[in-house]
Order: sequence, then C-alpha cells, then structure tokens
Amino acid sequence: MDVTPTASHVSSRTTTVTAIAGDGIGPEVMQAVQRILAAASAKIAWEDAEAGAAVFRRGIASGCPQETLDSIARTGLALKGPLETPVGFGEKSANVTLRKFFELYGNIRPVRELPGIRTPFSGRGIDLVIVRENVEDLYTGIEHMQSAGAAQCLKLITEPGCERIIRLAFALTQAEGRKKLACATKANIMKMTEGMMKRVFERVAPEYPDIAASHIIIDNCAHQLVIAPEQFDVIVTTNMNGDIISDLAAGLVGGLGVAPSSNIGDNAAMFEAVHGSAPQIAGKDLANPTALLLSAVMLLRHIGDFAAAEKVEQAVLVTLEEGRNLTGDIAAKGQGVGTTAFTDQIIANLGRDSSEASRQYQPLKMPVWPDVVWHHPSAHREMMGLDVFIETEQRPDALAQSLQAAAEGTEFSLTMIENRGAQVWPARTGKPFLVDIFRCRFMLDVPSEGKPSDIASLMGRISAHHHWMHVEKLQRFDGADGYTRAQGEN
Ligand code: NAD
Repeated sequence: MDVTPTASHVSSRTTTVTAIAGDGIGPEVMQAVQRILAAASAKIAWEDAEAGAAVFRRGIASGCPQETLDSIARTGLALKGPLETPVGFGEKSANVTLRKFFELYGNIRPVRELPGIRTPFSGRGIDLVIVRENVEDLYTGIEHMQSAGAAQCLKLITEPGCERIIRLAFALTQAEGRKKLACATKANIMKMTEGMMKRVFERVAPEYPDIAASHIIIDNCAHQLVIAPEQFDVIVTTNMNGDIISDLAAGLVGGLGVAPSSNIGDNAAMFEAVHGSAPQIAGKDLANPTALLLSAVMLLRHIGDFAAAEKVEQAVLVTLEEGRNLTGDIAAKGQGVGTTAFTDQIIANLGRDSSEASRQYQPLKMPVWPDVVWHHPSAHREMMGLDVFIETEQRPDALAQSLQAAAEGTEFSLTMIENRGAQVWPARTGKPFLVDIFRCRFMLDVPSEGKPSDIASLMGRISAHHHWMHVEKLQRFDGADGYTRAQGEN
C-alpha cells in the first residue's frame, strides 16, 4: 500500500477558506476571529457559507445546503462556528453530515494548560493531543431494532480506517516534534474491532523508530488522564473512545470553552471550537472566542502560515497570562469584559511574546492513499457455519429442539444458542436473564472452501417456524477464525 507522505498546503499567497459562522454565539466568535486574523496579516480570504438551525428550518434535513458543500469542496478548508443540533426525530446533525461528506477521518484535539486559566490541574504542564478516528466505529449510524424492545448498533472498524488514522497520528507526532504516541483501545474485550486498531498500530509503529509507541487499555487511559495527565504526549484512538476522552481531557485544562479542534481528511479540513452554540448568551457580547481562535491557529499551521499562527497564539497566551480584559467565563469574578473588548485586547497584544516556549511545528505530512476500493485478499477462505439471529419467546431448550429439527438433513448442525453474548444452550450453570433475541450458531459438518453451502434451504426451514432478523456467515481467513465465541462457549 502506497503511503508516501506529502506536504499538505504551503502558503505563500492568499488562501480561500469557507467560513461557517453557525448558530447562537457562532457569528460573534467568528467575527472576533476574523478581525484578529486580519490584524495578524494572515493571508486568508473568507467565503461565507451557511449551515445549522436556519437551514434545518428551511426543510433541508442535513442542515447543510448544497452551496456550503460546494464551497468546501472548492476551498478544501473550513472554519466553522457551533451548529445547533435539532432536537426532533429524523433530522441529522449538520456536523456529522460535514464529517461524512468530506470523509474527515481525523479529529485532532490539542489539550494544553493555558496560562491564567486556573483548574485543579494547573501547574502540571498538561500538553497533549488526542487523535480520534472520526468516521467509523459505532458512529457509522448503522442501527437496527432486533425486536420491538432490543436495539443494535453496528461497530464497524476497518483495517484501512485504522491505518490512516494511525499514520496520521504518527505524522502529527513528528510534525509537532513530539516523542510519544499511545494507542488507546478496548482490545481486551472487543478483540476483532478494537483489536484491529491495536494490531495495525503494532504493525505500523516500527516504521517510526524515533517515536516511543505504546498501547494502553482505554479505561486505564481515562484513569491515567486524571491521575497523571502530564505523562501523555499524543493519544490515538477509535471514534467513541476518542469522543469521550477528548472531552474529559478538555475538562482538565479549563473546559470546552477554550478547546480547539480540527477534522481532517485527504481532500478537506474543517476547524472548529469544541463548544456548542451557547444559546443563553448568544447576541450579548459575552462569548469567549478563544476556542475558535485556537482552532484558526490550527488552520493557519495546516496551510503552512506558521508565522501568523505563532503571532496569534502568542497574543492569546500573553492576554491570558496578564489576565486583563478577559471574557466573564475566564476572568476573575466581576472583572469580565465583552467579546469585543477581549478581541481588542488580543489584537493589541499581537507581536508580543508570552513566557510560554513555542513548539517547533513542521508541516503535517498527510499519508496518501490510492483511490481504489480497498480490499484485503486472503489466500484461503473457509465458511465454517452461520449465526442466525432469531426473535422468540421460547425458552432455549424448546428453541434448540425446533432448530435441530430444522437443520436435520442439511449440512449444518446447531451447536450453540446465546442470549446477549452468554451461552444459554447447551445449558450452563447460572440462571441467565433472557430477552427475546437469540443468536443461534449452526456449524457446517464440513467447512466449505469455495463451494457455496446450502444456506437457503436451512433458512427456508427456520423461516417456517421462527422470526429471524439477520444472518452472519462464520468464516475463517487464512486459518484465523473471523468470529468470536460466546461467553461460556468452548
Ligand atoms: P454549549 O457548549 O453550547 O454550552 C455549555 C456551557 O458552556 C453553557 O453554559 C455556555 O454558556 C458555555 N459556553 C460554551 N461556549 C462558550 C463560549 N465560547 N464562551 C462562553 N461560554 C461558553 O453546550 P450545550 O448547551 O450542550 O449545546 C448548545 C447547542 O450547541 C446544542 O444545540 C448542541 O447540539 C450544539 N452543539 C454544537 C456543537 C458543534 O457544533 N460542534 C458542539 C456541542 C454542542
């Protein structure tokens, strides 16, 4: 697989960026950021675009009109304010639409202790980055009701999905001159899905001998983030793990209000504050623009304007350090000023250096992927059997009897029935709580290599007596089982 790194953007002339002001406090913080960037002589031309509440109200279910998608497709870059997620059935999140549409697979969340922002962790020197896979995992949104009272969500994790986020994390570690990369997974429980991330990480890591690579179980990672957050440099993780620990980590340094982020992919990158639209304070000149501003700093580095990025970042740090003219959420009690005055203060501080040492940033070298339908060939594939998911109120013994009769005379034998992951037939010790969905495992008497087994005839017989929801093939790839065993199954 070709993963030759190439430099992302190099900015010597003006770069056009799509600006989505968004909802609530979005327009105020966007205006503040645009003023500061202009004052810092950042070479950016803005192309205004719309998304969020007003778009939903016009009946566009994605919350994102075609003109906005076209604008980002053209510029490849967006700075985005918060978008209100509608509370109502059937509407999609505009944020998720943008992430999916542009395949923004890497969510990057720097978490750094900021001067003047007091937290229980102040003084620990927290300075880490969380790199979260942003499009796969439980967030593909593939959900099905299995019965009227049982819901299922597909956790989809792919090898290329893991490889590109892991390579991006290594590239980012290098670009920021960092030394350590930890991969956080739940591979001990979800051996195939979360285990995929761990296996790919361990395969790719030796290609980066200058970076200390380690694996950590995600729950311990959450614990360590609270106990000793300063030990972390860069953490790469799957989508849902990353969603949770990145908010946790933001809480260590002052909360979502000051947390920046980027969502990057091969063809586009979108930069946004982590906070929401704060409707209670919208339009009152109270919002803190720091998070969107630090997101814009990430944008400047992404397009290669390191000088402007450094200038703006230092002005923010000086302003926070001196503690004069801060917005109410971070100022000393009773001393808060408005968004406009805070913005003016940052502009006044442009060109000054804080006491914080600057990091030596290099251009991020994005991994390059061939534009093909990715396929992992296997030399030897066998079909071992079938898992049939059945909805029934029958008890396991009665269900087994009926399914054994259905399999009679076919190439399959019923070997196991489980309920929510635990084997219930053949019976095991303990009294399991049963719900109306059962996974019924039929193994082929002789594994099938190539010759399609007669699945239709078995399913026809099962259908005559049972309500089934779906069927999973049990396969073996190059001698390795492509399925897990139930709790208690031998
Ligand atoms: P929120 O982040 O808007 O507000 C949480 C708290 O933080 C509030 O007290 C708010 O006043 C304060 N706050 C947030 N940003 C601030 C800022 N820049 N300056 C000062 N104070 C700030 O979270 P919420 O109330 O849960 O969500 C409000 C709306 O935003 C919802 O519709 C939600 O779906 C949406 N949202 C959007 C995004 C996004 O677009 N990325 C992220 C989170 C929430």
